Amino acid sequence: KGERLRLPPWLKTEIPIGKNYNQLKNTLRELNLHTVCEEARCPNIGECWGGGEYATATATIMLMGDTCTRGCRFCSVKTARKPPPLDPDEPYNTAKAIAAWGLDYVVLTSVDRDDLADGGAEHFAKTVSNLKERNSTILVECLTPDFRGDLSAVEKIALSGLDVYAHNVETVRELQRYVRDPRANFDQSLSVLRHAKKVKPSVLTKTSIMLGLGETDAQVHSTMKELRDSGVDCLTLGQYMQPTKRHLKVEEYVTPEKFVYWEKMGQEMGFVYTASGPLVRSSYKRRQKLSKVSFI
Ligand code: SF4
Ligand code: SF4
Repeated sequence: KGERLRLPPWLKTEIPIGKNYNQLKNTLRELNLHTVCEEARCPNIGECWGGGEYATATATIMLMGDTCTRGCRFCSVKTARKPPPLDPDEPYNTAKAIAAWGLDYVVLTSVDRDDLADGGAEHFAKTVSNLKERNSTILVECLTPDFRGDLSAVEKIALSGLDVYAHNVETVRELQRYVRDPRANFDQSLSVLRHAKKVKPSVLTKTSIMLGLGETDAQVHSTMKELRDSGVDCLTLGQYMQPTKRHLKVEEYVTPEKFVYWEKMGQEMGFVYTASGPLVRSSYKRRQKLSKVSFI
């Protein structure tokens, strides 16, 4: 105990860089946009941004700044009680930039803004509608905060024209308090996902769980079951990686075989799709997975 676990061989990967990568990176810098891909130093960046073998590119854009009002114990985004005010031009500028890139799939996400009356829901929704006006074929996923359970905020985003409504429960029910900010909890997150589906049944709902935080198999199983029973359509499972020494330690490097086991379990339970693997992040290969799904 106290020792950090050694990185297993399946996590020591070379990052492949596709040809779109540099172009995307330069545009981002010019526009001062933030991506989770870069902030989280996501190992899939070359593949997602470069398009890989499918020649489709995905990126995850962060709205509403880089400072969060919460402090989850697994997350390296910086925290403040009162982050800088929103940039009112962001929905327009972001939509314009994304439409110009020729991305096939974009994930819009944000920090939690508990300091704002609507948590930034209007801002989020405006970005989606601006983007869809410019490019009606791009698939848009929003990965949203829980809005402290404010369902009118959820509704605003669910009705904004998006294709996928994502909100992450992050970990099994039993570890919520240990892993997430105390203002978050499992039931509140479930209510967000349920409400999005209720107000717009054609929207796919999606959530993610990190493994390796000390959860048991029985807890993973019952959490998956609860999600499915609540009507959640898509599930991703990936390995938790400690971003800095001040964050929660990795308790276990779950083997690739075990991830396959959970993927099969997800399929048996009836999720529209389950993506499960050590390097799976909530936005990884979204387009390819979703092209099998009916709305495309
Ligand atoms: Fe970005 Fe998600 Fe791809 Fe990682 S998996 S590079 S965060 S789009
Ligand atoms: Fe990070 Fe999201 Fe938690 Fe904020 S709410 S600390 S951005 S995981």
